[in-house]
Amino acid sequence: MSTQTPQRDPWAPIVRLVGWLDRRNGRDQQEISMRLLKLVEEAGEVAQAYIGTVGQNPRKGVTHTREDVADELCDVIITAMVALVSIAEGNPDDILAAKLAKVEKRAARTEEPFPPRGGHDATCAYVSGMTSRCTCSDGGAR
Ligand SMILES: [Mg+2]
Repeated sequence: MSTQTPQRDPWAPIVRLVGWLDRRNGRDQQEISMRLLKLVEEAGEVAQAYIGTVGQNPRKGVTHTREDVADELCDVIITAMVALVSIAEGNPDDILAAKLAKVEKRAARTEEPFPPRGGHDATCAYVSGMTSRCTCSDGGAR
């Protein structure tokens, strides 16, 4: 039995949702602004749900579960995809794929070893790997 998740096209239902919104609300500047603001609203709901999982508000106690947080995260993803489809001047899937590749490439760079550390003070944060900048006592000119 395969443990891989079947590939799905998440864009098809998103395109249908955008069509529904377009038919109901149009797609003028005001509507685009509202779709972007909706993303902020949904992000706030993630924060609200997460705060509810830890019972940070003593008056309310624990009000949410991790499943609630996951549900709100899905709202953020869906809302962002709707906004992207609404404003994209190209294929949103290609735009997302290009961005993912860029982010993965940037992350992979942090796994590469730092350049040689010779010539630095023993207390230089660069030598210890704490930063990517030289903090040598001579002003960190390297
Ligand atoms: Mg929500």
